[in-house]
Amino acid sequence: MHARDNSRTVYSTTAGRTCPKCGWPARDCKCSRPAEEAVPARPVAKLRIEKKARGGKTVTVVDGLPRNSAFLRNLSQELKRACGAGGSVFDTGVEVQGDMRERVRAVLLARGFIVKGG
Ligand SMILES: [Zn+2]
Repeated sequence: MHARDNSRTVYSTTAGRTCPKCGWPARDCKCSRPAEEAVPARPVAKLRIEKKARGGKTVTVVDGLPRNSAFLRNLSQELKRACGAGGSVFDTGVEVQGDMRERVRAVLLARGFIVKGG
């Protein structure tokens, strides 16, 4: 109900401004976004198998990892390569298509992870 007032305010006061901290436009400021979590020397990974409800496709899920997109992307690449399978990244872990528990566990252990479950 205040949309008109707000837009006038935005135009007259903040349009074109950038945040002094992150350098992004003030209304698109990245400072309020959660920071990337630090990755411990020995991250704990929770390994499990999931069946997608539709189609019943099996995926190997590595969960409980730090919320760090660079770390997760990198791990996902390595697991996909090691398994020769597709996969994806989510906020606290990665998924690899198929039942790849043994290969995934081997990769994780080689990288110094503590692996639980599976
Ligand atoms: Zn900012």
